[in-house]
This record gives sequence, C-alpha cells and structure tokens, in this order.
Amino acid sequence: MTDDSDRPTPPEGLPPKLVDQLTNSTPEELRKAIVHAQELLYYHEESALPVEAEAGDDILRMTEHDGYTEVVKQYSCSEGCDDCPHGPYLYHVTEETLPNGTRETHWSFIGRVNADGD
Ligand SMILES: [Zn+2]
Repeated sequence: MTDDSDRPTPPEGLPPKLVDQLTNSTPEELRKAIVHAQELLYYHEESALPVEAEAGDDILRMTEHDGYTEVVKQYSCSEGCDDCPHGPYLYHVTEETLPNGTRETHWSFIGRVNADGD
C-alpha cells in the first residue's frame, strides 16, 4: 500500500468524512467522483446568467428578472451591410432544463428598442 506520508493534504474546508471517503476510494472511484462533482457544480450554477454573446452580437444591456433575463442587443450580420448594426432589439431569455439534464436557452424576441434611451 501507499505510504501515508505521501498522501496529499486535503484543501481546508473539505469535510473530514469526504476526505475519508476520497482517501479510501480507488482511482476509478475517484475519477467517477470528479465527474459527479463537476455535474453537481454545473447543477448548482444552473441559476447563473444563461446569456452568452454570439459572434456578431453586441449585448448592450442585461437585466435579470424573476424567471427570465431581459437582454438588449444589436448585431452585425456581415461586412459591407449598410444597415449594420441592426437593432437594438429587446429579448426575454429563459432557460429550461430538459429531462436528460441538458439546458436549453430560449430567446423570445420582444421588439425593437430605442438606441438613445437610457
Ligand atoms: Zn447588417
């Protein structure tokens, strides 16, 4: 067996019972624990802001509301377009977790907003 003195020191704040369980786990169990820990992390951060700017998007304003995020963005479609940037447009963004655990972001187009308003 491995010499105890080689054992890494667990991070401060990690509950002793978890340390015990991890210490007694096989490498295969540890790999699975990492995967599961990442899944749990993902789960806990589910309520984090779901909005990410896509290429060409310019997010001007983001306001979190109960159940949805209000996003004002404009976008550039292509180089050489005389009308670019388009918008700004108002969207309501909601997030839904599917039964298989993947998350879907839904953008609901609300309408064009005044670019000069503040
Ligand atoms: Zn354009």
